[in-house]
Amino acid sequence: MSRIRADKIWKNGKLVDWDDARVHVMSHALHYGTSWFEGIRCYQTKRGSEIFRLPEHVKRLFDSCKIYRTEIPFSWDEISEGILETIRANRFRECYIRPLVIRGYGSIGVNPLGAPVEVFLMVWEWGKYLGDEALEKGVDVRTSSWLRAAPNTFPSMAKAGGNYLNGGLIKMEAAVEGFAEGVAMDVNGYVSEGSGENIFLVHQGRVVTPPVGASILSGITRDSAITLLQERGVEVVQEQVPREMLYLADEIFFTGTAAEVTPVRSVDRIDVGSGSRGPITRQLQEDFFAYVRGEVPDRHGWMTAVYQSAGVPTP
Ligand code: PMP
Repeated sequence: MSRIRADKIWKNGKLVDWDDARVHVMSHALHYGTSWFEGIRCYQTKRGSEIFRLPEHVKRLFDSCKIYRTEIPFSWDEISEGILETIRANRFRECYIRPLVIRGYGSIGVNPLGAPVEVFLMVWEWGKYLGDEALEKGVDVRTSSWLRAAPNTFPSMAKAGGNYLNGGLIKMEAAVEGFAEGVAMDVNGYVSEGSGENIFLVHQGRVVTPPVGASILSGITRDSAITLLQERGVEVVQEQVPREMLYLADEIFFTGTAAEVTPVRSVDRIDVGSGSRGPITRQLQEDFFAYVRGEVPDRHGWMTAVYQSAGVPTP
């Protein structure tokens, strides 16, 4: 396995060498899961390197921390500018961006409030998350025996490190049985999401995706997909999805920063529709990739230039 690497990491406001971005073993986050993070992509577009929906990701990072009574010791602008600075320092044209906030080394004990807040901004080169073929052929998934956490246990609107223990169980269960991904239900038995992706179904001419109350992360690619579909005149509804609709859907696809727009071709070894990528999924992929590659004008203001930036707008 090749190890991810780049030159520089932004650590608490300063660029340090990759190997020097260390945390203490007594960091609260290592013991109790108190970390919050983002996953963002920078694309090489026709206009130069641009980050997809940077302000929305930075906002979600601040929101995740707010839910957990954690104040990030940097301003919105400092984090946004820090991300641009880190990409420039590593001279990447295209990369994945991982901001991470942790409760560090200070107090030990369950209460995180006494532990200092540390911030890291990392960037690296990362290809297609679910494999190169996945975007065209689709992936095989299983429904997970693990449920998403109940809404009154772990808040799913926070992108917290601890949530990914559940995600890891879903992903491992799928992987050891030869599936690309697992789809988890919420505690009410309705479809929630994949371990790192939101899910959409095409059923009887409508596009359906689980609502925010179904223990999903409110995905930024999900939001973008809804906008792009609606621009094509496709009706998109956010409503509870019973599990069996996964078997009856004409098309299913995942959305996510890492997964982008990935078709699902089978669920529990039952073909989705004809078992190959459907027309709505294909159209959305075309629209999504044309947008992020800068082949169309940035009509929604979703892109932030990296190397000729004039500041990052507030969403
Ligand atoms: N759900 C989960 C659990 C995730 O980890 C992700 C990836 N951040 C998503 C959904 C998709 O969110 P986004 O489109 O903002 O990347």
